[in-house]
Amino acid sequence: MIFLAFIAFFLIFMWPLVLAIVIIIIAWLLWPECKIPCTACSRKFRTNAGLKKHFEKCTIYQNRVREIHRIQEERRREEEERQREQCKREEEERQREEKFCKKHKEWKKNWRNEKNWEFTEEEFWKIQNDIDERKDNATKDLEEEKVKATEKLYEKLWKTTSESVEDRINDKIDDIDEKFDEKIEEIEEEFEEEEEILWDQVWDYDWYEPSEKEKQSKQKYEEAKQNYKKKTGRQWHDDDWEKNWYETFEDLLGEKINLDECYNILGLSKDVEFS
Ligand SMILES: [Zn+2]
Repeated sequence: MIFLAFIAFFLIFMWPLVLAIVIIIIAWLLWPECKIPCTACSRKFRTNAGLKKHFEKCTIYQNRVREIHRIQEERRREEEERQREQCKREEEERQREEKFCKKHKEWKKNWRNEKNWEFTEEEFWKIQNDIDERKDNATKDLEEEKVKATEKLYEKLWKTTSESVEDRINDKIDDIDEKFDEKIEEIEEEFEEEEEILWDQVWDYDWYEPSEKEKQSKQKYEEAKQNYKKKTGRQWHDDDWEKNWYETFEDLLGEKINLDECYNILGLSKDVEFS
């Protein structure tokens, strides 16, 4: 009884307190859970706004952002550098082409008179190919005419069965061929002269360019020689292996080697051959 009276009293006079407790419980149940994680440090937040605020303070997140910026910046710079290089290469290529064009024109005009040409390997072959091309073009028409001029005669030749007629036709064909060949040769001669002068220009050139690998080996060899000198105080003889060996043995065995004694110890005769 007393207990019920107490509850009744409580509900009647303390209802604001009860209401407050109920509201707090409901609010607690409805309050969102910490579900949104920070991708950097994996702390969790109830709201996006909270996460956003955290980002400003999260050092791991900030470092990550800075790192990403740095990488992007680096990539951008590399890309710029690459493009600059590309432009430079293209520009150089263009200039080379221009220079060659000029030189080539000059050559075509003056190859007979002027003597001191300087060609790179590339330029030389370009000119050589151009001569071939011009030669082919200059004689192309004559070659075609030659074929046409003898076409009918060949037809006759296939048809005839008489040997004397055959001989006559063959003679005619030979005559025509000869006439055309003479003309063609005449034209070709001029180009051959040009070719000869071109080859004269470059016969003593040394276009050999050592590869990167060869250059490196050479450098390593030079370094090794320096090291050898530092360690032994001796000069390395580039083209005298025997001397190198001899001096090395001297280093190992001391100044004086009594070879006779060596042979004696080994029980060998002095004229023994090591092979
Ligand atoms: Zn964080």
